[in-house]
Amino acid sequence: MAKYVFVTGGVSSSLGKGIIAASLAKLLQSRGYRVTIQKFDPYINVDPGTLNPYEHGECYVTEDGAETDLDLGHYERFLNTFTSQANNVTTGRIYQTVINKERKGAYLGKTVQVVPHITNEIKRRMLELGNTGKYDIVITEIGGTIGDIESLPFVEAIRQLQWELPEDDTVVIHLTLIPYLKAAKELKTKPTQHSVKMLSQEGVSPDIIVCRTERPLSPDIKRKIAQFCNVKQEAVIESIDMATIYEVPMAMLREKLDIICLKKMNIPNPPEPDIVKWEAFLERLNHPKSVVRIGLIGKYIELQDAYKSILEAFIHAGAVNECKVEVVNVHSEYITPENVEEKLSGLDGLLVASGFGLRGIEGKITAVKYARENGLPFFGICLGMQMAVIEFARNVLDKKCANSTEMDEKTPDPVIDLMEEQKVISDKGGTMRLGAYDCALLPDSLAHKIYGQELISERHRHRWEFNNKYLEEFQNGGMVLSGKNPKSGLVEIVELPDHPFFIGVQYHPELKSTVENPHPIFVHFISAAVSQAAKYKVEEKNTEKVNN
Ligand code: GLN
Repeated sequence: MAKYVFVTGGVSSSLGKGIIAASLAKLLQSRGYRVTIQKFDPYINVDPGTLNPYEHGECYVTEDGAETDLDLGHYERFLNTFTSQANNVTTGRIYQTVINKERKGAYLGKTVQVVPHITNEIKRRMLELGNTGKYDIVITEIGGTIGDIESLPFVEAIRQLQWELPEDDTVVIHLTLIPYLKAAKELKTKPTQHSVKMLSQEGVSPDIIVCRTERPLSPDIKRKIAQFCNVKQEAVIESIDMATIYEVPMAMLREKLDIICLKKMNIPNPPEPDIVKWEAFLERLNHPKSVVRIGLIGKYIELQDAYKSILEAFIHAGAVNECKVEVVNVHSEYITPENVEEKLSGLDGLLVASGFGLRGIEGKITAVKYARENGLPFFGICLGMQMAVIEFARNVLDKKCANSTEMDEKTPDPVIDLMEEQKVISDKGGTMRLGAYDCALLPDSLAHKIYGQELISERHRHRWEFNNKYLEEFQNGGMVLSGKNPKSGLVEIVELPDHPFFIGVQYHPELKSTVENPHPIFVHFISAAVSQAAKYKVEEKNTEKVNN
């Protein structure tokens, strides 16, 4: 029998429920428990695949091709285990299931209602992963904030499960904010009291309150929160702002979040945590020996969450290389042939990110050209790889109007074209090439060296692809097509051998980078950037000598 932990949020959004859930899961995992985390989102979209990154940040894709909330990325990065479609459920998906059942007549003439039909479907999904027998503990994070109309059925489902399951099989954690009022020089507990009251009115009393705060909580404040929110004082956990999200598990270990949680589950003497690897990672992360500056070329750069997995993969790869990766955001829309030098010179590497649609693509192509011609380490992801292909076609193969049919349907040289199976698809939700696909690597290519194996598997999310009609021309022109899908022959990796580091991949390697398993392309890219930074230093010294 699995045990269930529910994580709700109060007072404000963006308090980091996902990180608290992932940190708790990490600690429980380090004590030997088999843990998974799932996210229940109260919006009506069936999945976040159709959401603009400005709405909800990055869309995280799992092995089985589910388009999910970016918190699942944190779960995988912290736990180093895969999640799947079952780990992300939305109100839309719940209603879709219930309505489909109703259309089939499965409710036998009954009136279909929020309670019990919607709540039953929520409960079924809350227990689904636990029922597989694969996990000892299932943590369920409820998106949104307590008090929102749309999260009510989820809270009701938790209430019913608390009642239905044995007392020590459920734990409810409520994450709230304790604001500091500068004028009063005081931390304020009232918003938390109100939020817990609201949760209680909805029928659920939290067992643990995690308090997000900028300043330490005194024992007095903790006592006050405990007294007015009806929890034990030891169950008031301080979650003070940390320099990085990766410090949060250690902070929660010090605060005994996992111990208190296990106590409620009636597990008083759990095994000691084995967190050595995590600590070693933190040690390297906190003591970098050098700095590299990587240009991130994208069109959603004003929104950090849009490239979440890429930014986290840089952190993992930086730690391996014992260097701090400083990401310089460069808006692709404003890069022109005239200003590209000014915008990109001095960077140690360039990552051209994924994306959809026309906006900003000429800037991306200009940036690729600069990296190719100036020997700057280059890494293109998905649309970034497609831009590298277009740039090569235009400027090396002299096909001046080469393009992707996504940007120009009438281009005379569609070097990137819609995949055959995509041509008949009109629905937008869940219809891209999604999830894990095998890729065979060309022996002795850069990709082969990076991965150290011949067959890899990576996750995809796109509709367009390299147009194999141009295969020979590209090869003859000097581009190495070093990774292909063994079944379809689709080109998945391109590289330039006469360049210090130039690689473009059609898939999303950032989705598989974890703390314990940093992605090899990111690791090698950062290593190439470290060499580039060293080269700049030598050049600088030489110019100094000449000037002196
Ligand atoms: N828009 C491109 C495609 O659909 C690239 C997608 C991406 O970068 N994820 O093929």
